[in-house]
Amino acid sequence: MFCVECGKEPEKLYDSLCQGCYGKRLQAQIDEHLDIDVCTSCWAARQGNRWKERPDMHSIMLEKVDSGITISPEVSRYSFRVEFVEEDPRNYLARIKVDLIADDIEIQRELTTRIIFKKVQCKICSRIHGNYYEAILQVRTSRKEMREDQKNLVKDMVKREVEERRSGDRNIFITSSEEIHGGLDFYLSDNGVAKRLSKEISNVFGGKVTSSSSLAGRKDGRDIYKMTYSVRLPPYERGDFVNLEDGLYRVMEIGTSGGNVTLIHVESGRKTSMERWLLEDIDVMGGDSMIKEAVVVSETEREMKVLDPDTYLTVTLVKPQGFTREGDSVKIVKVDDRLLLVQESGD
Ligand SMILES: [Zn+2]
Ligand SMILES: [Zn+2]
Repeated sequence: MFCVECGKEPEKLYDSLCQGCYGKRLQAQIDEHLDIDVCTSCWAARQGNRWKERPDMHSIMLEKVDSGITISPEVSRYSFRVEFVEEDPRNYLARIKVDLIADDIEIQRELTTRIIFKKVQCKICSRIHGNYYEAILQVRTSRKEMREDQKNLVKDMVKREVEERRSGDRNIFITSSEEIHGGLDFYLSDNGVAKRLSKEISNVFGGKVTSSSSLAGRKDGRDIYKMTYSVRLPPYERGDFVNLEDGLYRVMEIGTSGGNVTLIHVESGRKTSMERWLLEDIDVMGGDSMIKEAVVVSETEREMKVLDPDTYLTVTLVKPQGFTREGDSVKIVKVDDRLLLVQESGD
């Protein structure tokens, strides 16, 4: 029995080699430098195929070293320890001690490598910067322009929903938004979110949703469509005064999910419920800003004398059913120089 490499005659041979010659075969290697991609926009780090948010850099470096070490095939078990020396925030020296075990031989090898953090842009940030979107959410009104407070409410709803969903899925974001054609456009990264928001907004404001798609290109042999969800809000809002055939009405309640609209006939105080489509081309006079205060001169069971706030003439008005007042003045609206009593709403 002798070593085929050096000719020594040891007591034990390992694959026809003495311990010394066999030990030389037990090697560990690592590349001179290992790169870790870090997103310059969101600081996510790439770990394999995934992007990790708020990464623990130490464990990512450790994993990188672990997967970077290659061991000769004779080794049956190995372990390693590593010390990282920061040379600058993007550049670490890694000193590695690897213990290799093969048969009854244990050998330690020392390796060094350099870990370099490379500035890149992660998939999501490059989508954000590349104006990626899957769907457009449009909000329009039948009037000329959405009211400012309505716009703000819609913007808040979209923002809240996207932020909530984004905490669980970074792919969800608002690509861009703009005020256009008296309404709002939101470009969203996720079709499902756009669809859900269109329903929510129409529920809250009593609108109608239509959707359309357009061909945006092809990917992997399939056509890619982009959806547009368009919410059309009714021309009126709760509290608005509207003109119908038999006089002035006030919108009391707009049912959700396409439900009926409850109106009150201002002059008589009679309540009525109407289907939405009947009110689509309705003549909206205005909202709360139409209401004025008038001083009460005298009151009987059916009538009330008030001072016209513009002319200071005393006018006699028939009280709508169930009309009550608090204090010395009442709320009125003036339409074509006619005064009408407005019941103060309970809320
Ligand atoms: Zn030998
Ligand atoms: Zn990023």
